[in-house]
Amino acid sequence: MEVDVTREQRAAVVAALRKSLTAGQVEVDVPLARLTTMRVGGPAEVLVTVATAADAVATAAIARAHDLPITVLGGGSNVLVADRGARGIVLRMHGGEVRAEGDDGVRADAGVTINGLVRWMVGRGLAGLESWAGTPGTVGGAICGNAHFQGRLISEHVREVRLLQPSGAVVDVPAADMAFGYDRSRLQHSGEVALSVVFDVAPGAAPEQLRLVARESLAFRKRTQPLHQASAGCIFQNPGPEAPVPDGVPRSAGALIDKAGLKGEQAGGAQVSPLHANFIVARPGATAADIRGLVERCRDAVHAGTGVRLEEEIVYLGDWADSSERHR
Ligand SMILES: Cc1cc2nc3c(=O)[nH]c(=O)nc-3n(C[C@H](O)[C@H](O)[C@H](O)COP(=O)(O)OP(=O)(O)OC[C@H]3O[C@@H](n4cnc5c(N)ncnc54)[C@H](O)[C@@H]3O)c2cc1C
Repeated sequence: MEVDVTREQRAAVVAALRKSLTAGQVEVDVPLARLTTMRVGGPAEVLVTVATAADAVATAAIARAHDLPITVLGGGSNVLVADRGARGIVLRMHGGEVRAEGDDGVRADAGVTINGLVRWMVGRGLAGLESWAGTPGTVGGAICGNAHFQGRLISEHVREVRLLQPSGAVVDVPAADMAFGYDRSRLQHSGEVALSVVFDVAPGAAPEQLRLVARESLAFRKRTQPLHQASAGCIFQNPGPEAPVPDGVPRSAGALIDKAGLKGEQAGGAQVSPLHANFIVARPGATAADIRGLVERCRDAVHAGTGVRLEEEIVYLGDWADSSERHR
């Protein structure tokens, strides 16, 4: 959604936010590039960084009162922010707490990183999420896109999600009602914000054993992903069972891009990673437009060569006005 925020409106919103938030931080015209792993994109008109549900709820109430949209940002590891940045309020969920919920559950605030959550669990001998070590980003981002790793979905471990609804209501939603699927959850369409998540865990494991699994996951990522370069992880979802993938080609977006001859391809500061063709990396000086242009070339080349329509896994955030018809 796009909005024109007048200077007075913005000042009123900032004043209201600063008055209402207990610990959240309110900043104006903040470059978002450094808050994303792709490291490109323009500024947030108003950036509100919160760790607690109470501050997220207060921010949303003020946005509603001023009729401003909210763009939610977690760890910024699955987004491409437009070069023009984002108007209105960017609500960045950053930090928070993890706490036990009975013997076999753990509640994590949305802004807690997946790595932080895994560390917390491993140290206490709680099994379940150890193989998710190394997944960048936050609990909220992982729930929104239903993060996946080696064929498993993070939703398999989710018991319940606490959501802030557009009306301002806070509700606890069981996993079965979250519309989870591969790269899917209801958050992608509902306008709701995840505040915290309860995960099912298995107590009584040996931390050393869990650490071993976590280390294996990290080593696998190091071998297979260009971790030393700026990226947003996999650009496209892998094609589903209905897609007309040619015989002999794995059902993988990276394999299809490779087959289209684009592995290693460069455009401006963007490059299809020579290590993993479903990663586009941003070299110094890259713009969001460079990245998006190369994403579209990959999609078009795969479609022209095989008839498979790749769908983006990354999310376009901010003011992409010139190409709004292509938004997800
Ligand atoms: C090197 C690398 C490796 C990666 N490996 C994997 C992998 O193995 N598996 C995988 O699935 N992904 C992977 N990713 C992508 C990314 O890490 C995940 O998608 C991650 O879950 C995104 O979390 P985030 O907090 O960074 O979300 P962001 O990128 O900040 O946001 C992503 C989306 O979630 C929304 N969102 C964020 N927080 C909330 C919230 N609290 N409530 C509602 N909506 C919210 C945002 O609005 C946005 O639409 C990788 C990325 C990188 C850079």
